[in-house]
Amino acid sequence: MKRKLENQIAIITGASSGIGAGCAIALADEGATVVVNYPVPAAREMADQVVDRIKATGGNAIAYQCDVSKEAEVIQMFADTVSQFGTVDILINNAGLQRDAKFTEMTLEQWNFVIGVNLTGQFLCAREAIRVFLQRGLDPAKSKSLGKIICMSSVHEVIPWAGHANYAASKGGVMLLMKTIAQEYAPHKIRINSIAPGAIATPINHDAWDTAEHLQELLKLVPEKRIGQVEDIGKAAVFLASDDADYINGTTLFVDGGMTLYPGFEDNG
Ligand code: NAD
Repeated sequence: MKRKLENQIAIITGASSGIGAGCAIALADEGATVVVNYPVPAAREMADQVVDRIKATGGNAIAYQCDVSKEAEVIQMFADTVSQFGTVDILINNAGLQRDAKFTEMTLEQWNFVIGVNLTGQFLCAREAIRVFLQRGLDPAKSKSLGKIICMSSVHEVIPWAGHANYAASKGGVMLLMKTIAQEYAPHKIRINSIAPGAIATPINHDAWDTAEHLQELLKLVPEKRIGQVEDIGKAAVFLASDDADYINGTTLFVDGGMTLYPGFEDNG
């Protein structure tokens, strides 16, 4: 059976851990060649492990260092990918981080750091991806779309989050960045969508599920009463990147076990 992403080239940012690594493995399993992006030399070993895992099952991947908040590095990552693999077909704009603080104690550095990676990083990578898509032209043998971008957002693109103003602002920004560029480039057959994960067990939220008490507290927010796994997001990413989602453009797919159903209201009136 033909795999859904055969012969397609995917750049996945922040793919040495968590959701990015899960998406890298899921896309590679469907035939995509994956650029496993990582930000700093210290993350190289983890990126290599993701590459090894993909190669062990017959897939194709490379590790690539690039800080997505740095324009020159992002431009170089896309140029190197095009020169090595010929093009880019899929971008998963996944890199993201938190620097939490009570709002009145939040430093400008904490604000700028989170906005720089989570929002400016998505802008820079999406811009380069769209430039490559437009230059290449459509290849119907590969995909009905000229290119696909998946922005890793969060339930916090709609749920306010006290103590995390920089993070929530970055994800709210991602929502309208995604919708605006989807509107701008849909006529070119470029599809741009977001995934909004709820609580997925990764290093970013380790403190929220590392003990039975913390997990129990967290699950009060999740109607399905389970924490998500990176595979839940990987499957959604494959769907949105594939022609199965050909008529889906400019939307956010919430993968959250019902977190955005406001479970606090379950037995309240
Ligand atoms: P994670 O910490 O495992 O992954 C984040 C990745 O981003 C790391 O691999 C890190 O090295 C990379 N990164 C950080 N700064 C970077 C930079 N400047 N350039 C390139 N890469 C950089 O956590 P995760 O949960 O897998 O997070 C992935 C994405 O999912 C993030 O955008 C996060 O906001 C989003 N998200 C996660 C959850 C969750 O519950 N885990 C929920 C909602 C949204």
